[in-house]
Amino acid sequence: MVSIKKIAFFDTKPYDKIWFDKYKEEFGIDIKYFDVKLTSDTAVIARDFDGVCAFVNDRIDELTVNILSALGINIIAMRCAGYNNVDLKAAMDKITVVRVPVYSPYAVAEHAVALLLTLNRKTHRAYIRTKEHNFNISGLEGFDIYGKTVGVIGTGKIGQTFIDVISGFKPNIIAYDPYPVKDKSINYVSLDEIFEKSDIISLHCPLTKETKNIINKDSIRKMKDGVYIINTSRGQLINSEDLLEGILSRKVGGAALDVYDEEEHFFFEDFSQEIIHDETLPRLISMPNVIITSHQAFLTNEALESIAKVTLQNLKDFFDNKEIKNAISYKKQ
Ligand code: NAD
Repeated sequence: MVSIKKIAFFDTKPYDKIWFDKYKEEFGIDIKYFDVKLTSDTAVIARDFDGVCAFVNDRIDELTVNILSALGINIIAMRCAGYNNVDLKAAMDKITVVRVPVYSPYAVAEHAVALLLTLNRKTHRAYIRTKEHNFNISGLEGFDIYGKTVGVIGTGKIGQTFIDVISGFKPNIIAYDPYPVKDKSINYVSLDEIFEKSDIISLHCPLTKETKNIINKDSIRKMKDGVYIINTSRGQLINSEDLLEGILSRKVGGAALDVYDEEEHFFFEDFSQEIIHDETLPRLISMPNVIITSHQAFLTNEALESIAKVTLQNLKDFFDNKEIKNAISYKKQ
């Protein structure tokens, strides 16, 4: 008889349920959905479950790992690619952690281009004007992307897809990655050259010790006046206060952000009736040349379906004692 494994699913949103409910039985998994985020305060919910499923803004620090481990949890299935919110050192040898390394690089790359086009051509402002029967186009000026220099930081799956998509506009593309792709005709330059030459900079690297605050007041100082900065990667790649300074001084011509360094307190939730206790986020939002979306770059049906299937497969492989391709931490057997 096949035993059904019970998973505690944290930080649940309606779009998660649609896809996980569609496939869970096929993989022999039962899911109990919880709205709360996984933190050291909520980890105890996982008592009597066989594993947990978590997302980008759950806080899986050392204490959370230790609580889960003490409850007998042997697997954390991250339903995302990035895992900077997991203390892997703490998890190593105690809990197996799996992730979804690829689901749809198109989803994120296309959103990065959507943000750039909105920022540049101000369609968000035009939409509001025409809704109010205001047909004035003053202040909606943009520039041709054709012939401009686009600097791409990080040329993994999403960075390469972004390059493919933006290439249609025929800009000059330069890129920086400490591990360049060999078989591609990407024009790699130094990081400083990216800063100095780019009209548009798009971030596609992971958050690591090296990339944390890669956009800061020093790198902004090196950039062209009026540079556009697009971030669909991780919030802490940018020092938000330095970015705000850059916007206020008009050094930075515009920023479009799908991620924010303190997003775990706000993103994915409705704060429309609340006071936002953050110095920088409301100020950035109030700027006419800043666009913020709340970590939705991944949100396409194709990506959600793929995330559900790969996460369920990861869990099934673990429970079947099979080789787990997508593990980033292993429990010592
Ligand atoms: P990937 O692993 O395929 O590529 C990352 C690339 O960054 C690699 O080529 C790597 O060599 C490069 N890199 C590493 N250190 C670097 C550094 N110091 N400077 C420049 N480049 C560096 O990952 P991916 O699938 O392309 O995803 C990229 C990032 O996008 C993820 O780490 C994640 O943070 C983010 N992401 C965001 C969303 C969203 O919804 N906004 C969704 C998925 C992924």
